[in-house]
Amino acid sequence: MPSSSLLPENDPSVLFTTAGMQQFKRFYSNPEEAPAASIATCQKCIRTGDIEEVGDETHLTFFEMLGNFSFGYPEKSGSYFKKEAIEMAWEFLTGELKVEKKRISCTYFAGDKGIPEDHESHKLLKNVTGLEDAKILGTGFDETFWSLGTEGSPGGPTVEFYIDGVEIWNLVFNEYKFENGEYVASKLKGVDTGMGLERLVAVLQKRPDIYQTDIFQLQIKEIEKMSGLEYGDKSDQECDKCWVDTRKAFRIIADHIKAAVFLINEGTDPSNKTQGYVLRRLIRRAIVQGFRLNINSNFLILLPDRLYEIYKGQYQFDEKKIEGVIDGEERRFGANLKAAILEIDSYQKHFQENSSMKVDGHELFYLYQSRGLPLEIALEEIRRRGIGLEDNYHKKFNENSAEHQEKSRTASAGMFKGGLESGSEQATRYHTATHLLLAALREVLGDDVYQKGSNITTERLRFDFSHSDKMTEEQIKKVEDIVNEKIKEALPVMMEEMPVFEAKKSGAMGEFAEKYTENVKVYSIGNYSKEICGGPHVKNTSELGHFKITKEESSSSGVRRIKAILEKSQNCDN
Ligand code: ATP
Ligand code: MG
Repeated sequence: MPSSSLLPENDPSVLFTTAGMQQFKRFYSNPEEAPAASIATCQKCIRTGDIEEVGDETHLTFFEMLGNFSFGYPEKSGSYFKKEAIEMAWEFLTGELKVEKKRISCTYFAGDKGIPEDHESHKLLKNVTGLEDAKILGTGFDETFWSLGTEGSPGGPTVEFYIDGVEIWNLVFNEYKFENGEYVASKLKGVDTGMGLERLVAVLQKRPDIYQTDIFQLQIKEIEKMSGLEYGDKSDQECDKCWVDTRKAFRIIADHIKAAVFLINEGTDPSNKTQGYVLRRLIRRAIVQGFRLNINSNFLILLPDRLYEIYKGQYQFDEKKIEGVIDGEERRFGANLKAAILEIDSYQKHFQENSSMKVDGHELFYLYQSRGLPLEIALEEIRRRGIGLEDNYHKKFNENSAEHQEKSRTASAGMFKGGLESGSEQATRYHTATHLLLAALREVLGDDVYQKGSNITTERLRFDFSHSDKMTEEQIKKVEDIVNEKIKEALPVMMEEMPVFEAKKSGAMGEFAEKYTENVKVYSIGNYSKEICGGPHVKNTSELGHFKITKEESSSSGVRRIKAILEKSQNCDN
C-alpha cells in the first residue's frame, strides 16, 4: 500500500505520522476491516520527539519507514505471526541485502513487569539466524515491549535487529490487549514492523552516519559550497569542539529543510500553532544553524532543488509552493534571528563578567516576541554557551506570554486607541504596584497576609492574598493611601541577586521561595518592600501614577481578591 499522509486525517491523538503502523492501528483490534491480511509499505514519518537528537549519527526528523504488517492471525487467511516474520526478516537482511551475518545481532523480550518471556521468539531467533548466544540478547520492558498503554490497545513483545550495533529493524508482535491495567492474551494476533530506510542505507553503504549516504550527499555538498567549510574535514578547524559543532550544523540544516519541504508539500503553512508551528521551528532552527556556519545570505532556498533530484520519480513536489514558503520565512525572520543570536552573544559577555548573571523568562519572551526566536532554540543557544538560566524561566515565560495574549486581545478590541504608551510599560507599572500593595496589606491587616496569586493586564492588576474577612471600607482606604504615599515618596526600586536562603534571611517575601534552588533576584522598594521576584519593574515608584482599588471580593476560602488600577497622577494631567 502507499504511504499515508504525514498529517494523519482521522487521528486527533497525534500531530504527525510517526510510524508505518499508524494508518493501520484499527486493524489490530478490528482485523475484519483490513483490506488484506498482510501489507507492506514505505511510510513517510515525522518524529518531533527526536528533533533534539538530530545532529547525531542516526536520528532524523523526517525519515522513511519500511514496514510489513499482518492482521487477524491465525483466522484471517494470508496472515502470519512470529515464525514467518522472523524468517522473512532474516531472509531479507542476509539473502536480499546480503548483509554479512557477523555484522548482525538481535534482541528479544526476556520477561519483565509480570509479563512472561517471549520464549518463542528467542527460540526462533536461535534456529533461524544460527547466531551465537552472545548476539541474541534478552532485554526488558523498556527495550523490547511495545504498548500504547491505553485501555483496549494492542501491545506485545518485540524483536530488534541491529547491524554494526545500530538499531535497524523493529518487529512488534501484538499478542496482548491492555485491559484494566493488565496485558491479557488477545484472540487475534498481529505483526507490525518498522525499518528505517536511511539507517539501512547507511549500514549498507558502510557510512559512519546517515548524512554520508547518497540520500543526503547532494544537500551536504550544497551546504559545503555555501559555507566554504567541509563536512568531514577537521584540518582547517581551530578546535575539536568547533568541528563537532560545524558538522552538527550541517546535519541539522539538511535534516530540517527536508522535513520542512515534505510538510509544506503536504499543505502545512507556517503558523504559531500545531503543525504550522513545528514547520516554523524547523525553518528557523535551520536558519540559526546557517549563522553558525557563517552563511550570510538567504541560503535555505537553494536546498529544495537538491531534494527534488534525490526523490525524483518517488514523490511529486509542489515546487512553487515550497519555494514561496521557505523564501518568505527566510526573508521575514533571517535578520531578526541574527539579531537575537547577537543578543544572546551579549548575554554571554555579561555572564563572563559576572557569573551570577542569569537569563530569565522575560528575556526569553522578548527574544521570542520581538525577534521570533522560538523558546527551544533560545534555550539551546543559552545552554550551549553555558550561560546561567533562572530556574523558573518557564513559568515567567508563560506569564509573559499570557500577559501578551491579553494585551493583544485588548489592543485588537480597540481599547488602546491612539497608542499613548506601550502595553508592556503599563503592565510593568502594575506589576511593581503589586509589591507596594502586598506590603501595605500586611501593614494594615497583619503579618498573616501572603500573596496567593496575581494577574496583570494593561488595564488593571488583580491580586489574591490570604485573609479570611472582607476588608472594611476604612481598611481599603488606608491601603490605598499608603500605596499612594509610597508612590509620592519616589522610592527607588533596586534589584540584588542572592542565594535563596540569604533572601529569606533578609526578610524578603516570596510565596514561591521553596521552588528556588539557586540564586534569586530580590527587589526592594526603598525600605518598604522586599520580595523575591523575576521582574520587570519600574526604576522608581514615581513612575506609577495614582493607585486606586476598584474591587475587593472573595476569591476562595481564606483568600481575598483585589482589583486595582493606576490612573495618571494629577500633576501629569494638564
Ligand atoms: P531509537 O531507539 O534508535 O530512537 P526507536 O526505538 O525509536 O529507535 P522504532 O520506534 O522502533 O525506533 O522505529 C522503527 C525503526 O525506525 C527503527 O528501528 C529505526 O530504524 C527507524 N527510526 C526510528 N526513529 C528514527 C529516526 N528518528 N530517524 C531515522 N530512523 C528512525
Ligand atoms: Mg526513538
